[in-house]
Amino acid sequence: MEPEPRAGILDIMPYKGGVADAPGFAAPVKLSSNENCLGASPRATQAYARAAASLERYPDGGVQHLREALAAAHDIPAAQIVCGNGSDEILQMLAHIYLRPGDEVLHAQNGFLTYKLAALQNNATPVPAPENDMQINAAAFLSKLSPKTRIVYLANPNNPTGFLMPADEVRALHAGLPENVLLVIDGAYAEYVRADDYDGGFGLVRAYKNVVATRTFSKAYGLAGLRIGWAFCPPRIADALNRIRSPFNANAPAQAAACAALDDRDFIEKSAAHVQKWVPWLIREINALGLKAYPSAGNFILIGLADEMQAQKAEAALMAKGLIVRNVKGFGLPGCVRMTVGLEDQNKAVVAALAAFLQP
Ligand SMILES: *Cc1c(COP(=O)(O)O)cnc(C)c1O
Repeated sequence: MEPEPRAGILDIMPYKGGVADAPGFAAPVKLSSNENCLGASPRATQAYARAAASLERYPDGGVQHLREALAAAHDIPAAQIVCGNGSDEILQMLAHIYLRPGDEVLHAQNGFLTYKLAALQNNATPVPAPENDMQINAAAFLSKLSPKTRIVYLANPNNPTGFLMPADEVRALHAGLPENVLLVIDGAYAEYVRADDYDGGFGLVRAYKNVVATRTFSKAYGLAGLRIGWAFCPPRIADALNRIRSPFNANAPAQAAACAALDDRDFIEKSAAHVQKWVPWLIREINALGLKAYPSAGNFILIGLADEMQAQKAEAALMAKGLIVRNVKGFGLPGCVRMTVGLEDQNKAVVAALAAFLQP
């Protein structure tokens, strides 16, 4: 006899991150995890180094400095902010709090993988809402609503498709949900969005008791390795999160670096400007090769190839040149790869390598 996991646990496929190594390359170009190609703010790096001098200390479990800085930056109450070990932890904690066995979790057909995993971890059923050419609207989500629906996860912009749901559609989605269904709006790429009416769902959080908006320091802020994210929640949801989170889930160097990163507006603006310059260029160049590059509001581009065989060959051809992209078959998108926006020469290298690959 040995300890037996709960029913369903062993049916969960472990999450696999983006590949980091290319055989034969000491410093490959990693474009597989939507990291910031400009790195992190030097101020954040310095704050992290300073924090190294007191690693014997427990972090501030209440994350006060960072929450107050976030509250001031976003004009929201610090008491309604909860930090996590990456926003992923918060997405998982919400599932842990609100799901009962048999409940349903709605997510976009090609939504972020965590949503499906969070459902399965809690003996709930992930229910995909249909996309149309990588796009989705409120009606598509609401067509899958059932009395068992408990949480709706929406990544906006979505990863891996890059699709941005317009603000009026997000409002329509919320308006169609019963009050006891939680809408989680995941703004992992919020800093890159330039749409005038985009607020990452903060307006809905202010107005309703069933909406949470999550953010992360992993993407535009370039602190993925430190694992720090946060959520803006209605008071009762913040209270529930604070009861179940582990006491020191946001580590001290991460808190320090995040505070410093938040202060460096120039770095974020430079990062966003870089992405806004290269996303349209990449889309144009890749489409000119006869492939299908989808529009993207994030720092990455989904590329459609002829089929899964060609996608795998393209991935291997890029890998042979030290360029690592993400195979997104596991996201339910066979025949596609996802590339993160890189530095100028890296973007050009990907396009050149794809062109060479497609050469008859
Ligand atoms: C990267 C990503 C996250 C997770 O970010 P962490 O804060 O590093 O856990 C969440 N949602 C989406 C859509 C992402 O792409």
